[in-house]
Amino acid sequence: MSFPGSGLLKGLATTAKTATRRAVTEQYPENKPDLPDRTRGVIALSIDNCTSCMLCARECPDWCIYIDSHKETVQEEGAARPRQVNVLDQFDIDFSLCMYCGICIDVCPFDALFWSPEFEYAEGDIRNLLHNKEGLNKWMDTVPEANLPAPKEDKAAPKRAAKKAANKPVAKTLEPEATDPAAKNTRPNQKTTEPSDASGQTDTPSAEDDQS
Ligand code: SF4
Ligand code: SF4
Repeated sequence: MSFPGSGLLKGLATTAKTATRRAVTEQYPENKPDLPDRTRGVIALSIDNCTSCMLCARECPDWCIYIDSHKETVQEEGAARPRQVNVLDQFDIDFSLCMYCGICIDVCPFDALFWSPEFEYAEGDIRNLLHNKEGLNKWMDTVPEANLPAPKEDKAAPKRAAKKAANKPVAKTLEPEATDPAAKNTRPNQKTTEPSDASGQTDTPSAEDDQS
């Protein structure tokens, strides 16, 4: 049932009811929102992890990832042969086309792409929404710790340490050599007989000596 002014009264009642409730909105930009770690704000690229495999670019439904790379031969210290590596020349994401589906992050086999909750990158010119590899790499600073992969355990480290220890040359402990040539050939309890005179003859115990 309605009567004249009932709409106004309903409106005033709603205002009075909500005026005492705690506000759920934030005074942005004065108050920054406390977003969850997994918020899909922007995509961050770890250049060191990217192998230019192109998987993300192939799987992107919007075709908004542009990758270019070249091969280089590197000789690593201790390696028997040089090996070829892909060097990333270009990695761009056009955020004016991106639909934030997250497929590129899910398919990357090398943990090179991450979500960052950072969202303040609006631009006046749409062309500036094309982020290059350096720009995408800068977002790595804003990726929450929880989104980063746990450091990989080096399972081969104990084996390598054991092998190294086994190959280590054993230090020989040598007996100090006798410097006195006479003492060199002397056995314990061995009697040494000194020459008695210049002729080199030795004294033999006489019967007289025994009696005395
Ligand atoms: S989030 Fe989706 S649309 Fe955006 S770059 Fe990744 S795969 Fe493409
Ligand atoms: S970001 Fe990942 S999937 Fe994309 S090219 Fe680099 S390593 Fe491959």
